Amino acid sequence: MATMVQKTGSPRKAESQRLSRILEGLDRRFPDAKCALDHRNAFELLIATILSAQCTDERVNIVTRDLFRKYSCLQAFATAPLRELEQDIRSTGFYRNKARSIQGAARMLLEKFGGNVPETMEELVELPGVARKTANVVLGVSFGKAEGIVVDTHVTRVSQRLELTRETVPEKIERDLMAIVPRARWISFSHQMILHGRHICKARKPLCHLCPVEHVCRSKDKTTAFPPSKTAAQAGRRSRG
Ligand code: SF4
Repeated sequence: MATMVQKTGSPRKAESQRLSRILEGLDRRFPDAKCALDHRNAFELLIATILSAQCTDERVNIVTRDLFRKYSCLQAFATAPLRELEQDIRSTGFYRNKARSIQGAARMLLEKFGGNVPETMEELVELPGVARKTANVVLGVSFGKAEGIVVDTHVTRVSQRLELTRETVPEKIERDLMAIVPRARWISFSHQMILHGRHICKARKPLCHLCPVEHVCRSKDKTTAFPPSKTAAQAGRRSRG
């Protein structure tokens, strides 16, 4: 073990270099990563993010297209018949809880925050249905404030596979990531990790042959470094040879 450290330098330095290569890889593959939820202002983003729990962004965008037309201001959400609001967002799943959260948030914004979305983590997490993940999305995207890192299901999975954390609870994963990723990168890193998890490092079968950080990944979930068709062709050549 001592010999290995001598050859490769300190473990801390090696891990820091590995993180740099991960950040470079994400930058290369996702240079313009941004939030995929359609919105025109901070309140719409807040609602879209609440709706995105356990739902795809594509589905949320379909639902919010009509929703934001029907409820065009905070008052409309605050005073809507709850059952009607539930039906309007039904296809996003968990619609009863989400409708209560949206209406509760709209009312609190009107009563406590003068109809504005607050710009601090402490105030945002006071809103019903808003935890750090949603607050981080709103702060980063609408206000350009890096208060934390968005930890959703994709960021959780990718962070674990890349050994950036051993934790399983979002708050602890976020704390681990915040300790190693430079603050100036928190907003873009969140978007890049979500995109990477959604399109490449998928839950069931990661597309490792397309992965920009495959060279530094030691995950047991890694699939072949080659696309299946190429592997099959190589296998065919080998058996013919
Ligand atoms: S190599 Fe595969 S498992 Fe590792 S981060 Fe890339 S896609 Fe995910």
